[in-house]
Amino acid sequence: MKVLLLFTGGTISMVRDPKSGALHPADMQVFQSFVPELFAGEIQVDMFPFDPLIDSSNVNPENWAKMAHVVYDNYEKYDGFVILHGTDTMSYSASALSFMLHNLTKPVVFTGSQLPVGVLRSDAKENLLTAIEIAAAKDDMGNAMVPEVTIFMDDELYRGNRTTKRNAEHFSAFKSYNYPALARAGVRITYNKQFIAQPNLQEELHLRDKTDCNVAVLKLFPGITESIVKSILSTPGLRGVVLETYGAGNAPSCDWLYQHLRDAVERGIIIVNKTQCNTGSVDMGQYAVSLPLLKAGVISGYDITTEALLTKMMYLLGENPTDNELVKRMLQTPLCGELTKR
Ligand code: ASP
Repeated sequence: MKVLLLFTGGTISMVRDPKSGALHPADMQVFQSFVPELFAGEIQVDMFPFDPLIDSSNVNPENWAKMAHVVYDNYEKYDGFVILHGTDTMSYSASALSFMLHNLTKPVVFTGSQLPVGVLRSDAKENLLTAIEIAAAKDDMGNAMVPEVTIFMDDELYRGNRTTKRNAEHFSAFKSYNYPALARAGVRITYNKQFIAQPNLQEELHLRDKTDCNVAVLKLFPGITESIVKSILSTPGLRGVVLETYGAGNAPSCDWLYQHLRDAVERGIIIVNKTQCNTGSVDMGQYAVSLPLLKAGVISGYDITTEALLTKMMYLLGENPTDNELVKRMLQTPLCGELTKR
């Protein structure tokens, strides 16, 4: 069994600078010296270090494309892939890769840690070694147990595009609010097979790495002013907006909000309604206060996360620079388990 370990950085790889006291990425050799077990087991682990290693706050779409390319270029040589990544933006990166790697039939497991690998109480080793086991796991037919882009952290495996970083303190940094865990690691790793994707094994992997960053998040709050809404919606080049609404997709009933949203939609900007609640779904029309959004041409994001919606928009707009109707249709269609329509 062979697993390729992509090493992008993150706390897992960091050491403390004696002068500033701040954590920064160390090099691969330092990291390797802390985990000799990695190369002593039955699974052959090869490393692919990124240069430079980064704090994931610095991740960008070029980094996503590079990660996707490394998986794509090495796809036949390995049973699975583990991506070591900072936790801060891991949900964005895992979501982006789930869209870029089309027809994935092998595991791509993101993991990281809340404490650096060299610290005594670190969660790094456990996360890394279990992620590698999951990336190499096969079912009775010899197929990959979890042929998806996932995040493993603490003791749970989640579909990557369903996750949100919810905790900056505890080892269980992530949560998948609207989709069950795909596996739990205790004494044994228990897989929840009914929730794991079943890809068509005959289909080939396709790499789709174009993105368009002309997107924005507009978060509503009581007291939001017309000039703020107007300035976001009139950003030059803007193509897509994640509109973060209340509850089941509700918004204040002011005429100016409706007018600005409608004007933006008429100018070809795609606006998707995403609830600010972690759990549950947008249901425009349930309350009278959401009817103007429907009338303005805002479309539903259902129960998708902001991380998945933003990266899906960037990906769809990058791949389809001119066909807005197609992008809107795809935004409302689950492409790799990122949303459930109700
Ligand atoms: N700032 C770090 C990063 O995202 C945090 C972490 O890895 O947990 O790279």
